[in-house]
Amino acid sequence: AAMSRLKEVDIKGGWKTGAPVPYGALTKTFALIEATTKRLEKTAILTAFLLLVIQRSSPDDSKSLLQAVYLCINRLSPDYVGIELGIGESLLIKAIAESTGRSLSVIKADLKKEGDLGLVAMNSKNSQKTLFKPKPLTVPFVFASLKDIALTSGHSSQAKKVSIITKLLAACQDFEAKYIVRSLEGKLRIGNAEKSVLVAIAHAATLAENEKRTRKYGKDKLEARLEEASNNVKSVYSELPSYDEVIPALLTHGIDGLREHCKLTPGVPLKPMLAKPTKAIGEVLDRFENKKFTCEYKYDGERAQVHKLDDGSVAIFSRNSEDMSKKYPDLVDQLPRCIKESTKSFVLDAEAVAIDRTTSKLMPFQELSRRKRKDVKVEDIQVRVCLFGFDLLYLNGQPLLKHSLAERRSLLREHFHAVEGEFDFAKSSDGETTDEIQTFLEESVKDGCEGLMVKMLESDASFYEPSRRSINWLKLKKDYLAGVGDSLDLVVVGGYYGKGKRTNVYGAFLLACYDADAEEFQTICKIGTGFSEEALQSHYDLLKPLEMEKPRGDIKVGGAKPDIWFEPKVVWEVLTADLSLSPIYTAGQGLVEDRGISLRFPRFLRIRDDKSADDATGPEQVAEMYERQALAQSQGKKKKGGD
Ligand code: ATP
Repeated sequence: AAMSRLKEVDIKGGWKTGAPVPYGALTKTFALIEATTKRLEKTAILTAFLLLVIQRSSPDDSKSLLQAVYLCINRLSPDYVGIELGIGESLLIKAIAESTGRSLSVIKADLKKEGDLGLVAMNSKNSQKTLFKPKPLTVPFVFASLKDIALTSGHSSQAKKVSIITKLLAACQDFEAKYIVRSLEGKLRIGNAEKSVLVAIAHAATLAENEKRTRKYGKDKLEARLEEASNNVKSVYSELPSYDEVIPALLTHGIDGLREHCKLTPGVPLKPMLAKPTKAIGEVLDRFENKKFTCEYKYDGERAQVHKLDDGSVAIFSRNSEDMSKKYPDLVDQLPRCIKESTKSFVLDAEAVAIDRTTSKLMPFQELSRRKRKDVKVEDIQVRVCLFGFDLLYLNGQPLLKHSLAERRSLLREHFHAVEGEFDFAKSSDGETTDEIQTFLEESVKDGCEGLMVKMLESDASFYEPSRRSINWLKLKKDYLAGVGDSLDLVVVGGYYGKGKRTNVYGAFLLACYDADAEEFQTICKIGTGFSEEALQSHYDLLKPLEMEKPRGDIKVGGAKPDIWFEPKVVWEVLTADLSLSPIYTAGQGLVEDRGISLRFPRFLRIRDDKSADDATGPEQVAEMYERQALAQSQGKKKKGGD
């Protein structure tokens, strides 16, 4: 099937072997992907395109594939380097106006109608008569221009950006303007999840290898190879999430040689392992019956992945792979004191927690969130931060992901030592009975923690699983036991003007969850009670610059009617007592029923500035919570009936 697609993406534009990849071929591919909703088909189209890229670039060229992949996921560098697109609407409108000669007001009116600036740009281009055909855009040129735009800062940077964008737009043909503008906005909206991109890379590399073989694989063998390759590439990438490393290695060493050349590397943050919520200690015991497990304090701070490189340098990354070394210069200073001499390079998984200077008591997360995210000076620091280490993922040249937690933990304790108020090992207890867990849970709460993390301790079920919300890690929060349920991380997508005293601020907000597969925000509830005047003012200040007249095209609105829309950016942690089916909101539509799911009586907990909009709770999690609640209710009823 992939082969038959080859012809479709192989568009005009003189794409010969050794020539740069035409941007037209890439955008044609995007258009084909966008036109289908079938995941397998999307992957097959992308595979066909990437195969062409591999086959038409010279053997020592890995840049072509690398840049094509980056443009497919709309990034310009690995996450932790943090070169980001996300150009504001008004700047883009200006550039479209300048390159097409249409007036700002006409473009704005079009945008109101279409809701997609990419489409508006494309239509504006196509309605324009051109005398000369512009020189076709190429992937390397577009990539370099986007990077230029992202890196331009300082004096008159706006004007510089507009000028680069205007030039790009002037050269656009066919679909190109649509996707360039969407790239610049920061969202391609073709419904291509990063996982499918990894699969497509693996498939394309396998097919390219097969083409070169003198005896080609038979159908069954090829299918098996494709499957094996995609598992391989996904797993390698989860350990070393950098296309800069993975793609050249893939092209040089092939699918089979990839694993050997791409291993977890200090300096490249991996996506952290996450936990599943549990409601009751009984549930923990059901899950871990007859298995060795451990309970650890669930500290209420910020996840910190600490890397020490062979050259002695130290980097601290957030759960989002952002470099936090500038936020925590004190942690960087403290670190050498807790490392033993035998410890040369490592990757440590830990929680950074605020503590009281005089009493050394743990303080809640809010204390840390007051810190600026950058350029913190050690002498200005008020709250002290202590690091609680709970896992060791790499030590002195060796990745430890495929060691049991028991082994990783003993290596951790062997190679680090506690320093009062600066570093400690996460407090743990390997108790096994309900009573023991209950006692430890109460202790953790008394000590200022959120509850417990319960983890599989031995066998391959205790391996570290990067980027997975794993069933081998359970979180047991005190809130769950009170029947409150887990919190959700939701994106603020709309605002309702306040009434009475609150007319100068928003009085309520529309929230959404994020479906990463469909790349869309799905509305889930309106939240408007429990905010102080002061809080409303600060939310207003933060959200006002994100105002938009129409919902952005990737917001699945349903029946919600806020007064104003926001660029989806700000993430709030929200607690709810109750979920229900809703004819208005769109979260998880089709997962439980045709109707969506909404939160009743949502309560604001805090801003999650360590999460981006893409990290918001997904619709599957919402549906899971809804179903758990329905199950608990029916069991409750049964119990009552039986009494
Ligand atoms: P949240 O529940 O706030 O959404 P999350 O999605 O960031 O958290 P979870 O999997 O729910 O992640 O909970 C795990 C988080 O708890 C970790 O990311 C880490 O920051 C924190 N944590 C605190 N103590 C521990 C511990 N001992 N082991 C693992 N994680 C811990």
